[in-house]
Amino acid sequence: MFQQISKFIIEGSSAKTFHPAFVLSSLLVFALAFPSPSLTQTENTDNTKQADNYFNVISKAGLLRWPRSAMPLHIFIKSDDTTDGFRPVFVTLLEQAFSEWSAGAQNRLSFELTNDPDKAQILCGWTSDKNDMTKLTEGGHALVIPEGHNIQRVQITILTKTIADKDLSDQFFKRVALHEIGHALGITDHSPNPTDMMYGNPPFNTINCTLTDRDKNTLIALYSLDQETINHRAINMANMLPDKDNQSNLARIIRLNAEAAKAMQTKNLTLAVEKLEEAHNIDPNNDLINSNLGSVYGNCAVVASIIHQTQRAQIYFNQALPLLAKGPNRENYLSILRFYESFLRSNGKLDEADKIDKTIETLSNR
Ligand SMILES: [Zn+2]
Repeated sequence: MFQQISKFIIEGSSAKTFHPAFVLSSLLVFALAFPSPSLTQTENTDNTKQADNYFNVISKAGLLRWPRSAMPLHIFIKSDDTTDGFRPVFVTLLEQAFSEWSAGAQNRLSFELTNDPDKAQILCGWTSDKNDMTKLTEGGHALVIPEGHNIQRVQITILTKTIADKDLSDQFFKRVALHEIGHALGITDHSPNPTDMMYGNPPFNTINCTLTDRDKNTLIALYSLDQETINHRAINMANMLPDKDNQSNLARIIRLNAEAAKAMQTKNLTLAVEKLEEAHNIDPNNDLINSNLGSVYGNCAVVASIIHQTQRAQIYFNQALPLLAKGPNRENYLSILRFYESFLRSNGKLDEADKIDKTIETLSNR
């Protein structure tokens, strides 16, 4: 439905001189695989030789964490769900898992539950559809949205069924919960040790799922670093993308989003629109893609208004604003609303401009 008007940007050559280029949110995914039957637990089981953390492993691709100013982190856990296989105890176990990480971090992190998903930085939800995972062998994943060196927002999705379509045991669920929260807090890779909760391929028969000292020490190491060290070791996004041969919907969306972000850096709006429309068609309900697509349409609207293509600008604004309203990128939403307001004023639509002004005010005060 977006295909028709998105191409015009190529026609207007003066569009190349446009000023605003909105930065798109990136998207990283960290998953936990279900155990494979052939899995053996021979890796690093000699406890005497182990370091007391695996920070060197997780810091290889660069560092990412929540800023101190974001504390307490607001957590939204979807409950009263109709997802097949969902049990209310999952909510309790998830809350316990957050408490365990919080205690393990020794006052470096704090959490607060919220009933309002719009106020949450970490959103937890469920699915019984294996196709929502990046791989069919996956038990859950954390979608991490970074902003510079910081984590801005995370969506955790946990599969409510095993790959054999059986119900999850409480213990295995707890393991998935602890694991995904670890990713959500900035542990971007896996421990090489099967006893750690951040090991990537847990055995099925795990009992007593609880954070190890190594898990806790790794998180403490990450949150004990000074900001300067973090600033010098930005995460390398290109290394974090799903493999090309991974054709799951989510993997494709993440690659398309990365391609769009790259296109925006070189101010190639047409390409960015193309990539994000493709991602939007794969999953029209992905609010980060919606937000990014809204930002790019908004950018197109601004360009069109600069070159006095008033009608086209209006069409782009009409497409951009509903998408931005639904998505998490409030900063881009506000800037595009401000552009829209001045666009309306310069076209003599003062009543409408006043309405937009009120929306801006309400949003800024939230
Ligand atoms: Zn993982």
